[in-house]
Amino acid sequence: MTKNIAVIKGDGIGPEIVTEATKVLDKVGDKFGHTFNYTQLLMGGCSIDANGVPLTEETIAACKSSDAVLMGSIGGDTTTSPWYKLPPNFRPEAGLLGIRKALGLFANLRPCHLYKELSGACPLKTEISSKGFDMLIMRELTGGLYFGERKTEEVNGVMTATDTLVYSEEEIRRIAVKAFDVAMKRRKKVISVDKVNVLDSSRLWRKVITEVAKDYPEVTLEHMLVDNCAMQLVKNPAQFDVMVTENMFGDILSDEASMITGSIGMLPSASMNETKFGLYEPSGGSAPDIAGQNKANPIATILSAAMMLRYSFDMTKEADAVESAVSKALADGCRTGDIMSEGMIRLSCSEMGDKISELI
Ligand code: NAD
Repeated sequence: MTKNIAVIKGDGIGPEIVTEATKVLDKVGDKFGHTFNYTQLLMGGCSIDANGVPLTEETIAACKSSDAVLMGSIGGDTTTSPWYKLPPNFRPEAGLLGIRKALGLFANLRPCHLYKELSGACPLKTEISSKGFDMLIMRELTGGLYFGERKTEEVNGVMTATDTLVYSEEEIRRIAVKAFDVAMKRRKKVISVDKVNVLDSSRLWRKVITEVAKDYPEVTLEHMLVDNCAMQLVKNPAQFDVMVTENMFGDILSDEASMITGSIGMLPSASMNETKFGLYEPSGGSAPDIAGQNKANPIATILSAAMMLRYSFDMTKEADAVESAVSKALADGCRTGDIMSEGMIRLSCSEMGDKISELI
């Protein structure tokens, strides 16, 4: 199979970590008989330097005409970089919001997997962390409180602020379908998180999710209130497979879940539209403090590339091969600085990419 991948290396550690991910993809191509063609594109700070804007129409068009997008990270040091003296619409992050909007990416997928080799980095009690966990949080990305109408006004002499939380049936249905489709590729369990005891939007959310579940008889559905979910994540994270939730709940819960996995350098992510098209990127930022030093952990980006294989290209055994090569590298004691512990072998970013490629 031949796949065309738009590659946005971006800023800071972006070029280093993406180079390792394409190294791994090329090894997958050799081993399984696929060709991956890459189109290198600029976005973020490097695009500001080259084009005066963080995102160009050419970059958007090239992404749209590709099969998927692989991204590193964008942005620089927010206190010292000249990019942050520009008006907000011209800063690196505006590129990120712009590309998500232009590509219609409404579903954010964040797997949180605690590898048993890294369980020491998990801040939970050993009796909980030793069981490990492997969940995927599916967050609705373009609706809800963050996109509703808002205003601040004086009412009877008192300053009053209003934010509105709006969800349509269609918006809920398309994220529900995505969540159940992903659950079919995992352990076939969906936990939908809402606040049905208070919010109308949650009552509609629960109704639509329950309707969609009827089309997926193999998948078990549970509903959980968001406050309980925040507690369950630290009490019994192993119970979660796919968690689906609205924008703000997902924002908060996915950060809580990432904390209990230890290092940001291990966390992949994907943002998808209704089709199989997606943008794949590590959850972390551009890490300007270690950029250009060949120190960054490339695993989050390599695992993001594995998600691309699984969800955009339906290459299940290829994705499994990448994920098990990562597990094997960790089991062999290979570590980058951010996940280093006593007695382990410290590797650079490129050495970690070489090691994972060798293990495929
Ligand atoms: P950050 O995630 O870049 O860094 C936080 C800490 O984590 C740093 O100590 C960094 O060295 C470490 N870290 C992050 N990724 C790592 C990796 N792969 N390997 C080893 N260590 C890693 O967050 P920040 O410092 O708050 O932000 C830096 C810049 O990144 C800002 O400009 C911010 O806006 C941008 N940012 C971009 C994205 C994105 O591209 N999607 C996401 C978050 C932040």
